Amino acid sequence: MTRKKLVIIGSGPAGYTAAIYAARANLSPVLFEGFFAGLAGGQLMTTTEVENFPGFPQGITGPELVAHFKAQAARFGTEILAEDVESIRMEGHPFIVRGKKNTFEAETVIIATGATANRLPIPGTEDEAFWQKGVTSCAVCDGAAPLFRNKPLFVIGGGDSAVEEATFLTKFGSKVYIVHRRGELRASKIMQKRAMTHPKIEILWDSAVEKVEGDTVVRHVVLKNLKTGEVKTMDAGGLFFAVGHTPNTQFLGGQIDLHTNGYIQVVPGTCQTSVEGVFAAGDVMDHVYRQAITAAGTGCMAALEAEKWLSARE
Ligand code: NAP
Repeated sequence: MTRKKLVIIGSGPAGYTAAIYAARANLSPVLFEGFFAGLAGGQLMTTTEVENFPGFPQGITGPELVAHFKAQAARFGTEILAEDVESIRMEGHPFIVRGKKNTFEAETVIIATGATANRLPIPGTEDEAFWQKGVTSCAVCDGAAPLFRNKPLFVIGGGDSAVEEATFLTKFGSKVYIVHRRGELRASKIMQKRAMTHPKIEILWDSAVEKVEGDTVVRHVVLKNLKTGEVKTMDAGGLFFAVGHTPNTQFLGGQIDLHTNGYIQVVPGTCQTSVEGVFAAGDVMDHVYRQAITAAGTGCMAALEAEKWLSARE
């Protein structure tokens, strides 16, 4: 079995930034970019225009940005494997990282497997229907696209994300509707007040989207009032899921401490998990910011911490 100083799991901005830093520090990292477990490159791969990543004043598409990350990581010698990690043995040291084909002994591990935005199985929102043609799960990433300008927009959810996304979308849409399945928001009091007092936001209580319709892009949503059963069709330029995220931690098999919401716990201000030598970066440990740039920032931190941890043991 090959021994590695560092194995990185995940190929979004956190994983690749960790790889760039670690490779430049001569740690010769291996990076598992994933295969079946989720789209290699992560959530950016389903994002159209990224306009808020510094360094790209004209904007860049999510897949192009990931291609840049990958090329930069490869340039400094990162070994990139198109493979999923199935398990890590964290008892004892070195750790054993088992991929589908390759297994490594790893002195340190960086987990950067991200989180998957939850979607609901609503007809018309599937990949082959209007996903990314008016249906998305990230208003901050996609909301400014011309497609959504001056159109009625719909956000599904009742948490802080739904309110935050709806508020953000008021800058672009003619009106923003929050469609919530209950008669009360889950969002914090301050966010609730923001939603309820905003002149461009209307909350559709006890409601669900039953169907999305359109031609080449979204044109209508069919809504159902869950209390009265009333069904109505409304004009729509976009539909945004804000029904939470699921961090990708299943393969860890409960070996490191998670928050109650499933995100990896780290020592505050660091990327150190509950297992010494195992670090976490990006959305898998961040349920607050969840941006490409913050993921890249924690990827950098994790690589620097791994390097420091290794040199302290030499
Ligand atoms: P969340 O708090 O878990 O809210 C998810 C929302 O989706 C809930 O309102 C839930 O409805 C709804 N939902 C879930 N499954 C659904 C389904 N099958 N059909 C219809 N609706 C469904 O998630 P979040 O809003 O992403 O927030 C996650 C965490 O990040 C929270 O701790 C939040 O405070 C934090 N956050 C903070 C900020 C901020 O402070 N600025 C911004 C964003 C997120 P129910 O309410 O009926 O369960």
